Amino acid sequence: MSTNLHKLLELSWVELEALDKNQSIVLLPLSPIEEHGPHLPLGTDILAAQDIAETAAGYLCKDNPLLQVVLSPTIPLGCSDVTADFPGTISLRGKTLYHLLVDFCSGLAKSGFTYIIIANHHLDSVHLKAIMEAIETVTAEFQVQIIETAGRILYSGMTLAEVTKGEELGLSMKTEVHADVRETSYIKYRYPHLLKQAPEQLSPVLINVREGIRNGLKTFKAMGAEQGYIGSPALASENLGRIHLEEQARIIAEMAIKLMAGQALPEINPHIIKYLKTVVSL
Ligand SMILES: [Zn+2]
Repeated sequence: MSTNLHKLLELSWVELEALDKNQSIVLLPLSPIEEHGPHLPLGTDILAAQDIAETAAGYLCKDNPLLQVVLSPTIPLGCSDVTADFPGTISLRGKTLYHLLVDFCSGLAKSGFTYIIIANHHLDSVHLKAIMEAIETVTAEFQVQIIETAGRILYSGMTLAEVTKGEELGLSMKTEVHADVRETSYIKYRYPHLLKQAPEQLSPVLINVREGIRNGLKTFKAMGAEQGYIGSPALASENLGRIHLEEQARIIAEMAIKLMAGQALPEINPHIIKYLKTVVSL
């Protein structure tokens, strides 16, 4: 492990206090325990969030020897009522996640940290709103800058190699939603022993989730995802899984550097921000 990569749990308070906070950034992986179809483990988002944060930390340390990167343990919690009608999903109320993150990030701020990245791998709207509101609360109270990653990566309109690759397979990435080609590729690439059944056996389940929500349906199962996945797991490949890990980690590392340099970051589409603020409630 590079000398400028620190695991939060392994530091003493003396070591933590000695870090130059203007040159330090905390990576905090966060995602819920949630069903991911019959073929993927409940911890799919947690494993991905953690691996992506660790990989991003590695890139940052290697490219920026003066930077101190502090890797927090992963918080295996989040909001996922859309899949809570399957066993195995453990969904927090929006307010619970909000308070948890306010307290956790306030603790980091009180410890002197100025830059925090919430390495999130889950896009449920209540989950995202709870994170955004927690960030607003903590940044209003402390001199600290905090950003969330998944929303900025997937809702900012940036071009992603994994989306291009998916489209090359003939897929519309709008209906690759959950335990889909991307997440199945990730587990196939990184944790093949955790694949519960051959993804090739699973027929595509293509559901327009936005339309389902408009029609008042509250869960993926109610929208027709009987086995808990929406997308095309059969087309998963190790290569797409590797692209997912490396691309997300690289983008997060770039965001970290921009955050610390006060440069512009990819922003979530304003329509989505408006939807989260006005329609979604915690
Ligand atoms: Zn997931």
